[in-house]
Amino acid sequence: MRITEIREVDVPLQGDIANAVVSFAEHKVSLVAVVSDVVRDGAPLTGVAFNSIGRHAQGGILRDRMIPRLLEADPDTLVDPDSGRLDPARVLAGALRDEKPGGHGDRAAAAGAVELACWDLLAKANGEPAYVTIARAHGRTPVHVGVPVYAAGGYYQAVDDLAGLTDEVRDYLDAGYPAVKIKIGGLPLADDLRRVEAAVAAAGAGERVAVDANGRFDRERALAYAEALAPLGLRWYEEAVDPLDFALTAELTSAYDGPIATGENLFSRQDVANLLRFGGVRPDRDLLQMDAGLSYGLTEYAAMVALMEQAGFDRRAAVPHGGHLVNLHIVVGLGLGGCEAYPGVFQPFGGYSDDCVLADGLIRPADHPGFGLEAKVGLGDEIAKLVA
Ligand code: MG
Repeated sequence: MRITEIREVDVPLQGDIANAVVSFAEHKVSLVAVVSDVVRDGAPLTGVAFNSIGRHAQGGILRDRMIPRLLEADPDTLVDPDSGRLDPARVLAGALRDEKPGGHGDRAAAAGAVELACWDLLAKANGEPAYVTIARAHGRTPVHVGVPVYAAGGYYQAVDDLAGLTDEVRDYLDAGYPAVKIKIGGLPLADDLRRVEAAVAAAGAGERVAVDANGRFDRERALAYAEALAPLGLRWYEEAVDPLDFALTAELTSAYDGPIATGENLFSRQDVANLLRFGGVRPDRDLLQMDAGLSYGLTEYAAMVALMEQAGFDRRAAVPHGGHLVNLHIVVGLGLGGCEAYPGVFQPFGGYSDDCVLADGLIRPADHPGFGLEAKVGLGDEIAKLVA
């Protein structure tokens, strides 16, 4: 199996929403297609993926650095010598030729899109859903199970509206999501607390509501929110402080007894190792949200999960950022703790295809070969244009 071509395109996110730090109005995502020399049904077998949501498209890095490197590489260096098929880890190494260690930023997302497209390609070559290929490649027995899912929303709208937030939370619960996550940090504490209390009232319990500050808070504000939120018994308090300030994260976990969540802005195993060493995260309650699409793909992500386990965490404490089909297959394939979903936002990438079943608070992938991205409304059209 050889790569004959790699295509990429920037696809804008639909909608005009914001968290405490960024507006997504100008955000785009890199959709990548890795075309192989294997022909199926008269067309080249092609793997498709993208670099998750919320980190901008990476077309420049893909076009100027990674795609040329892979097309210039000796094809034998990109395949598993035993199977003769593309090896995602070798493809990743080829994409990163002449890159220095450290500084894991946008290139981690660019590489992630390419590496994940290889997994889609391998699963399609096997004629099976990606979670099956992923499970087998990691020494696990593939099982077609649903995994816990929660609805992420509660963004700051152009017009702030408490009734609108309450309706949104109720809509998620009515749709079958057992829990919701809303944004905090975009308003003064007293106003934010009103939002959180309204969400808890609508959801019926603090255990059904998580909050996410998107790394916005300084020490004083993080601790003030911790004190104000503690009585609500929330599901978790996410990314209170700068994601790389491990000392402050440790101070927060020592001040806040409830679960915290962090990790979506750590893009390498080394960053995760440092979080585990110095961040004071607690294996008995905290959640880690690294996202393969933002961090060099599944090869690096699986190494992060291994580090978590070495530090005493159960792999179910891994709940990746980015509610979409790629991460659903990774969560099912690796037996992780669950997924988020963005019902109605971040289209066409957010959420799941209509044939993924949401029942009893669990989301179950459909059985399309690969990640099944082609079956998702809106995204299928973008893929068709890219591979045409
Ligand atoms: Mg978050």
